[in-house]
Amino acid sequence: MTASLPSFFSPRLAALEPYVPGEQPRIANLVKLNTNENPYPPSPLAVDAVQRAAASGLERYPDPESLALREAVARRHGLSPDEVFAGNGSDEVLAHAFFAFFRQSEPLLFPDVTYSFYRVYAQRYDIPCELLSVDDRLRIDIDALADRAARGCGGIVLANPNAPTGIGLPLAQIERLLQACPQRVVLVDEAYVDFGGASALSLIATYPNLLVVQTLSKSRALAGLRVGFACGQAHLIEAMTRGKNTFNSYPLGRPALAGAVAALEDEAWFAQTCKAVMDTREGLSLELEDLGFEVLPSQANFVFARHLQRDAGELAAALRERAVLVRHFGSPRIAQYLRISIGTRDQCSMLVDALNDILAG
Ligand code: PMP
Repeated sequence: MTASLPSFFSPRLAALEPYVPGEQPRIANLVKLNTNENPYPPSPLAVDAVQRAAASGLERYPDPESLALREAVARRHGLSPDEVFAGNGSDEVLAHAFFAFFRQSEPLLFPDVTYSFYRVYAQRYDIPCELLSVDDRLRIDIDALADRAARGCGGIVLANPNAPTGIGLPLAQIERLLQACPQRVVLVDEAYVDFGGASALSLIATYPNLLVVQTLSKSRALAGLRVGFACGQAHLIEAMTRGKNTFNSYPLGRPALAGAVAALEDEAWFAQTCKAVMDTREGLSLELEDLGFEVLPSQANFVFARHLQRDAGELAAALRERAVLVRHFGSPRIAQYLRISIGTRDQCSMLVDALNDILAG
């Protein structure tokens, strides 16, 4: 007897679009500028700490509260450990935040051009969304968002700097939103903030509705270790912890905890590699402009650029043939753009050479 497989599945699953893992191809020697990883390795102190943690103690469960990491984050940002929540990458942290704070009865507000996973998490927890249009230069209209929030909503999610545009918002605009929506959480996702953005961490003491989410995947070059965290007043962190402990029992593993703490303590490595990425970004932006691209102002480790004559999908495909990967999104609103992660100077030169070759053809 053959059962119909879909009969096993919850209807919730049918609504989900599977993520296609094509952005992480298993091919060597690619110039990989498509997923906003750091082109530099993590701090050698972090690598050493991971190795030491792996060499002894793996037979023991890790600390379920990730206290050492929460203390390290708290020290660095002038908070207390009960104002820090740790998770396996900021994607997991975001999922816990959506579960804890956003509801099924009121729409969650976010811009129509932003990190695609916000929609996925909303769908996962049956949270209705209302997407506000960005303008023709892909900027978020903060006045419109604040006005809409003031009429009642379930909360706001913003990436600052935004993804995939790289455009940063000044803190005064974040404060506008926090004030427009005092009874609901404003989640500011600062995955890319260390590359020149303005962090809202300094506003936590003032706003009981502010949750700031950060990751060690980008500026700390630890995408492979999966570490992220959220900061907010203790009542928010307690709510997230309550949710996490009831349906998720996966704390950070011992190597991840040790590596994350060491990375957070290596300020010199962090400053030097972030500066290298930012300097390369400025140089690459000028070179792309010379090649006929319009490049949006970026405060992130990537640029979002549109060629004024050539089709972005075709450019991405031609680059791929030359073993250079950049990101092209299918969605109509941004189909003319390429998102290019900042590589090493050599990798960016290879990209520019490949583009020169393609554009000459
Ligand atoms: N937020 C934004 C805006 C991102 O672009 C990403 C990664 N692409 C994440 C969160 C998640 O990063 P991670 O899970 O590696 O911390």
